[in-house]
Amino acid sequence: NPIASDIAGPAPRHRTTQVKVGDVAVGGGAPIVVQSMTNTDTADIDGTIAQVAALARAGSEMVRITVDREEAAAAVPHIRDGLAKRGITTPLIGDFHYIGHKLLAAYPACAEALAKYRINPGNVGFKDKRDTQFGDIIEIANKNSKPVRIGANWGSLDQELLTKLMDENAASPNPRDVRAVTREAMVQSALLSAARAEELGMPKDRIILSAKVSAVQDLIAVYQDLAARSDYAIHLGLTEAGMGTKGIVASSAALGILLQQGIGDTIRISLTPEPGGDRTREVQVGQELLQTMGFRTFVPLVAACPGCGRTTSTTFQELASSIQGFIRDEMPTWKTKYPGVEELNVAVMGCIVNGPGESKHANIGISLPGTGEAPAAPVFVDGKKFRTLRGPTISADFKALVIDYIEQ
Ligand code: SF4
Repeated sequence: NPIASDIAGPAPRHRTTQVKVGDVAVGGGAPIVVQSMTNTDTADIDGTIAQVAALARAGSEMVRITVDREEAAAAVPHIRDGLAKRGITTPLIGDFHYIGHKLLAAYPACAEALAKYRINPGNVGFKDKRDTQFGDIIEIANKNSKPVRIGANWGSLDQELLTKLMDENAASPNPRDVRAVTREAMVQSALLSAARAEELGMPKDRIILSAKVSAVQDLIAVYQDLAARSDYAIHLGLTEAGMGTKGIVASSAALGILLQQGIGDTIRISLTPEPGGDRTREVQVGQELLQTMGFRTFVPLVAACPGCGRTTSTTFQELASSIQGFIRDEMPTWKTKYPGVEELNVAVMGCIVNGPGESKHANIGISLPGTGEAPAAPVFVDGKKFRTLRGPTISADFKALVIDYIEQ
């Protein structure tokens, strides 16, 4: 019998039906897609173009924009065209709530410019015959051959469905935990809406599902259930993940577990931006999550030791952070010039304890001198000692060696 250390890697990917969002394939075995969302007013055409461009440049493969009112709907085709003029063809997804049916009907150019529509089944009724909002959006999507994401959300759950399930639960001789019933309502809301969309003529290869919750354990349970009960392509994301490290940790914990179980075809890391913070951070976190788990490679990995009492100089921290920033800044250019550059592994280590060993495992690595060590920093290339750097220009010298390595 294999022991735990014989096995490494995620479970086989959950089989889903592939959906094309513009030119981007989601599900059906396609690489897991990183997406993000703007926080500009969509009616601000220039501001939205600038932010979509920044997100796309950071590596967002699809970008969602809110379409909340007429001015926003009117702006969408101009945003798409403005981006195209800059050579950016990243698919735009329209985020609709409450009045999406009206906006899409009144602004056909908006319906055409978007590559996908996000529908929240909690605020677009479909069961009541008088209420045709859901059906109207599906009809417009069908007419334009656009896919939809049916995105249930814990904070705006279909109240009629929830009340029905709660009443049934209360009448049951063995009532379930109220949270479990709410999770079931989330799953049913997504699945019933998808079934309704199919009844209305939408093919399965145009439907993506999501069911976002902000509590990690609820989110994991909901998505496991969703995957077990359907083969629709799945969009993973924690809603209201939070600010800073809280949001990053919560998203990584929840999405990491699901991805390891083979669940998830596209991810969005929702981070509440710090005041003046950089929106592209959520793309970076999404990429790093996929890369550290071994699903995809986006940028060269910089392995750096945490540092300890043996690293008293600031050279180590400065070099580790400056190499990471340098690589990330150069990547858009390097990607086009040096195919495969994202496979590169760089090591920046703080002393002789693990420095030479770890540096030898990288394509190129440097072991800086720790306290009490001779002021010399050996550089290793492809597992062999290549050169020793000394003096105040170590950082610039090492960057030059990284560039030489990539060019060669
Ligand atoms: Fe500390 Fe050296 Fe280990 Fe880095 S490699 S954590 S400096 S002992």
